Amino acid sequence: MTHELPGLMTPDSAVYKTLLESTKAIPWKIDWKTMQFAYIGPQIEALLGWSRDSWLSVEDWATRMHPEDRDRVVNFCVSQSESGIDHEADYRALTASGDYVWIRDVVHVVRDDEGGVEALIGFMFDIGERKKTENELIALQKKLEEYSFKDGLTGVANRRMFDTVMEESWSHALRHRRPLSLIILDIDYFKQYNDVYGHLQGDECLKTVGALLSSAATRASDFVARFGGEEFVIVLPETDQAAAEKVAERCRQLIFKEQIPHEASPVSQVLTVSVGLGTTIPGREDDLQAFIGSVDSQLYLAKGNGRNRVMRTG
Ligand code: GH3
Ligand code: MG
Ligand code: MG
Repeated sequence: MTHELPGLMTPDSAVYKTLLESTKAIPWKIDWKTMQFAYIGPQIEALLGWSRDSWLSVEDWATRMHPEDRDRVVNFCVSQSESGIDHEADYRALTASGDYVWIRDVVHVVRDDEGGVEALIGFMFDIGERKKTENELIALQKKLEEYSFKDGLTGVANRRMFDTVMEESWSHALRHRRPLSLIILDIDYFKQYNDVYGHLQGDECLKTVGALLSSAATRASDFVARFGGEEFVIVLPETDQAAAEKVAERCRQLIFKEQIPHEASPVSQVLTVSVGLGTTIPGREDDLQAFIGSVDSQLYLAKGNGRNRVMRTG
């Protein structure tokens, strides 16, 4: 008894044709000498809207590509093909209705007997869904990175970020013998604020203060962070004492002028802050934590001297 190969397994071109034209991936063939399409699957019309016979040459392929992808993809595919290397490329293909669809083109280089390139055959895959997921993942990753250095409530930088920035600013000042200023602000009688207006409004108040401080620190290198609780810090690189005093005073006044009611405050009817300020040109023997401590002591003095004021070192 002989075993006939089942029809599917015979090199029957009609079967291959059926297979090729019923798969979701879109097959194509380009003749290398003429750069003309020898074949493209009919599925192309459903995906991109361009009729099957409108795909004549590689020009049609290149022009129906997003301008931002074109040079990269065409150059890459041409150079790989010339070197006889199988390759793949992702790009946005233009649809007949003017939209773009993400495509992955997987290309096999067919060589003749002398080893020269004879044709390119490949499959186009619709990777729109995959790209969407990929972009969502990238956005999520960005969010996570943001969360790791941003304070969740106020949106200004968090304590961890402050530690990093402060250390960097300190070593910059040390290396270049430049002044560095630091401001620490603490809301006056915030415990009473929460008691009177509730914790939620307390949170709102912290958001407002964070935003006001961000608007007061105007230089690109100025850095505002939430130090913890109702305390904020501003790092001012390349800033001497006179300039830093102006920023500190501007912060204090901005918050006062906002006229946030604070009935229970013994110093004012509106929300106020106490501010400690320090400026240094650090030397090798100086210590960053000691500097931060000295600014904190000034804040403590501002509290003791009646609050709603700026005190500075030196
Ligand atoms: P002083 O003028 O001496 O600074 O008095 P104070 O009441 O502001 O100081 P204290 O440090 O005793 O209280 C700080 C308060 O800040 C207590 C705490 O409940 C409140 N607080 C800290 N973090 C938050 C927060 O995220 N949201 C709210 N609503 N309140 C907070
Ligand atoms: Mg405090
Ligand atoms: Mg306080």
